[in-house]
Amino acid sequence: MVKNITVIAGDGIGPEIVAEARKVLDAVAAKYGHEFVYTDVLMGGASIDKYGVPLTDETIEKAKSADAVLMGSIGGDANTSPWYKLPPEKRPEAGLLGIRKALNLFANLRPAMLYPELYKACPLKEEVAEAGFDMLIMRELTGGLYFGARSTEEKNGEMVATDTLVYSESEIRRIAIKAFEVAMKRRKSVISVDKANVLDSSRLWRKIVNEVAADYPEVTVSHMLVDNAAMQLVKDPAQFDVVLTENMFGDILSDEASMITGSIGMLPSASLNDTKFGLYEPSGGSAPDIAGKGIANPIATILSAAMMLRFSFDMDAEADAIEGAVKKVLSEGYRTGDILGADATGLTKVGTAAMGDLIAERI
Ligand code: NAD
Repeated sequence: MVKNITVIAGDGIGPEIVAEARKVLDAVAAKYGHEFVYTDVLMGGASIDKYGVPLTDETIEKAKSADAVLMGSIGGDANTSPWYKLPPEKRPEAGLLGIRKALNLFANLRPAMLYPELYKACPLKEEVAEAGFDMLIMRELTGGLYFGARSTEEKNGEMVATDTLVYSESEIRRIAIKAFEVAMKRRKSVISVDKANVLDSSRLWRKIVNEVAADYPEVTVSHMLVDNAAMQLVKDPAQFDVVLTENMFGDILSDEASMITGSIGMLPSASLNDTKFGLYEPSGGSAPDIAGKGIANPIATILSAAMMLRFSFDMDAEADAIEGAVKKVLSEGYRTGDILGADATGLTKVGTAAMGDLIAERI
């Protein structure tokens, strides 16, 4: 199969970690008889340096015309980089918000899993960590409180600030469908998180999720209030498979879930629209503190490439091959320096390129 991938290497460690993901994709192409055609485009700081803006129409067009976008990360050190002397809409991060909007990426998928080999990096109680967990947070990304009308005005002699939380049936339905489709590729369980005891938007959310659930009889669905979900994530994370939730709840819960894995360099993410198209990137940032040193962990980007194969290209066996190769390398004791305990006896500390080689060799 031939697939066109637009690549945004980005800033900081972005180019280093994307190079390793491409290495692994090339190993997949060679083994399974595919051709991945890459088109490099600029975004973020690199685009500011060349064009004066963080996102150009050309980058949007090249992203739109591809089958998927693979991204490293964008941005620099906010204290020292000249990019942060620009007004907010011209800074690197504005490029990211702009491309999400331009591509209508309403579904954000963030898996959080604890590898058995890395359970000591998990900050939870040992017995909880030892049980492990493997969940995927499906967050609605373009609606809700962050996109509703807002105002700050004086009323009756005092300032009053208002934010509005709006969800339409169609917005809820399309993200719910994504969650159930993903659950069919996983352990077939969806826990939908809301605040239906208080919020109208949550009551509509629950109704529509139940309607969508009827079309997926193999998937178990249940509902959990967001305050309880925040507790359950640290008490018993193993109970979660797919967690479906709205924008703000997902923002908070996905950070909580990534924290309990203990390692930001391992976590991939995907943002999808209502076609097969998606933008795939590591959950971490551009790590300017370690950029250019050859020590960044490329695994989150490599696993993002695996998500691209699974969700945009329907290449499940190929995605399994990447995820299996990552597990193998970890079980053989290879670690990049960011993974807690990497210096322990019996483990081998490696840099970015060596980690990419090891994974590519095991495809
Ligand atoms: P960061 O994720 O870049 O770094 C936080 C810490 O984690 C640093 O110590 C860094 O060295 C480490 N780290 C992150 N990824 C790593 C990896 N792959 N391997 C090893 N260590 C890793 O977060 P930050 O410092 O808050 O942000 C730096 C820049 O990244 C900012 O400009 C921010 O806006 C940007 N950012 C971009 C994205 C994105 O492109 N989607 C996401 C988050 C932050």
